[in-house]
Amino acid sequence: MSERWFPDAMPRPAVDADTAPFFEAAARHQLVVQRCTACGAHRHPPRPLCPHCHAFDVAWEQVSGRGTLFSWSVVHQPFLPQLADKVPFVVAVVELEGTGGTRMTSNLVDADLAALAAGLAVEVVFEDMAGGLTLPRFTPA
Ligand code: ZN
Repeated sequence: MSERWFPDAMPRPAVDADTAPFFEAAARHQLVVQRCTACGAHRHPPRPLCPHCHAFDVAWEQVSGRGTLFSWSVVHQPFLPQLADKVPFVVAVVELEGTGGTRMTSNLVDADLAALAAGLAVEVVFEDMAGGLTLPRFTPA
């Protein structure tokens, strides 16, 4: 069981044929992104077509889970009643190490809000939600 930061009553991500391998890896506490097998470019979020060369050829590659904070927003106004006791929380865009600048939107947890800065070193943590869903979050490294 992982640490918990957010309630199970939050809206769940849509899992489809393109995103299922991402969530299956997350359930194993592995962070993966798609990599085009035609041109080698990483991409996220998952999608069928490479935005660089338009090939459909794809493989899933496990990444280190380390990265840097690219951008963020501190949410003070809960947009859902089930988040009322979770504010302030951080929505973060993380640039993933070793992926040519591929970015992932998630939450930054257990962070000192006064210490947030572009380039802050972060690493992935996994939150096991109800119903077999696991979501990658990030925390200062
Ligand atoms: Zn490509």
